[in-house]
Amino acid sequence: MKKTAPVAKNDYIEVQVEDLTHDGAGVAKVDGYPLFIPNALPGEKAKIKVLKANKGYGFARLMEVVEPSPYRTAILPEDVSKYGGCQLQHMSYEGQLHFKEKQVREVLKRIGNLSDVKVHPIIGMDEPFHYRNKAQVPVGEKDGKLIAGFFKPRSHEIVDADESLIQHPAINEAVRAVKKIVSDLGIPAYDEEKHKGVIRHIMARYGKQTGELMIVIVTRTKELPFKEKIVQELISQLPHVKSIVQNVNSKKTNVILGEQTNLLWGNEVIYDYIGNVKFAISPLSFYQVNPDQTKVLYEKALEYAGLTGEESVIDAYCGIGTISLFLAQKAKKVFGVEIVKEAIEDARRNAELNSIDNAEFAVGEAETVIPDWYAKGNRADVLVVDPPRKGCDEALLNTIIEMKPKKVVYVSCNPATLARDLKILEAGGYQTVEVQPVDMFPMTTHVECCALIKLKV
Ligand code: SAH
Repeated sequence: MKKTAPVAKNDYIEVQVEDLTHDGAGVAKVDGYPLFIPNALPGEKAKIKVLKANKGYGFARLMEVVEPSPYRTAILPEDVSKYGGCQLQHMSYEGQLHFKEKQVREVLKRIGNLSDVKVHPIIGMDEPFHYRNKAQVPVGEKDGKLIAGFFKPRSHEIVDADESLIQHPAINEAVRAVKKIVSDLGIPAYDEEKHKGVIRHIMARYGKQTGELMIVIVTRTKELPFKEKIVQELISQLPHVKSIVQNVNSKKTNVILGEQTNLLWGNEVIYDYIGNVKFAISPLSFYQVNPDQTKVLYEKALEYAGLTGEESVIDAYCGIGTISLFLAQKAKKVFGVEIVKEAIEDARRNAELNSIDNAEFAVGEAETVIPDWYAKGNRADVLVVDPPRKGCDEALLNTIIEMKPKKVVYVSCNPATLARDLKILEAGGYQTVEVQPVDMFPMTTHVECCALIKLKV
């Protein structure tokens, strides 16, 4: 007998929400058939409208919360569209932390077969709002008016927004100022469909420890009309601004920044600190968006590395060298590897800026460079990895298993690939000692972890 869905499109039904997916949608089951409902929370009784009924699962819209979860906040589902990029803002922060910690435990068990591993309580933020130090706000036009905010999920429609719950107030203020200045001067916003107009994005970066602000105006055209006037206004309205830059992106593309940047006023870079390490931030360089929690995470990585000053350390997927420079202060030598050439240039510059001379950096794939080093007889006592969401390449894991560093410290932004990779390391003679989840991105579904893995004796 062919299995069909027990619900159909446009059905209006009441359900009990049981679970939350890793991307924050509520899950309810009708005769065992799962329905995914964005903005619904586990434990809630809710009225929903079925939007799509596939064979094995369906999607529905939350219409009314009949019995709310104790974790539900005052932000109503209909308000959710006011703020971009915050999938969990309808959930209390306590609820978010509970959900993220539970997700880490479950995934380690289900994918990694690690039922007994010690998972510490997640470290959250005291103040989970306004933590971001960087915004990239798309600019467009609606009814003849310049608007700027965020893209509606899965669309190219811009929602006008004057504030973000998770951006630093200095960033919100800067974006509002640029928006008003260019709008008052009548400078046309970019029209994505026609590939016409001038202002594409407003970008702002803020060094929380230094109070330095950078503004980047991304234009389609080489010329930015009224640029002296814009600079004058920005300086008078934003006393913390240290750098004002125009970035030209004349291509028809979703990529935000183009290759050409023109300094309009001030310094080429702003500075910030994570712990006592100083970083130079240019318009194009990568820098962690939540430096407070980054410090918490990297201090954990440093603690797990347990350095005495005698160790040789490899930092794979090192980016601009954030972890490498943190570790270099306690290690004999650190070797960082990263695939993006510009990031390695930043890493070298940052090492110099901090007078750190025991960190060396190489451009290339971690899974190619580290096996090469190993073949040439270079060994590490401690190996740190901080891979992108897809986790470590298997060739790298196999080299680790052969090289046998005493400790591996795994910093992960995706618990599922962390669990998969831990399973491989466990089969290769390692033991996962403990895992520390850290909430780097409150109001979103993302969760970071730091894991300590030791070679079994
Ligand atoms: N540890 C850094 C960045 C980690 S993000 C920090 O804290 O800032 C992951 C990094 O891995 C990115 O910089 C990305 O460019 C890099 N990357 C992705 N694939 C890679 C590969 N195969 N080999 C080396 N680096 C890679």
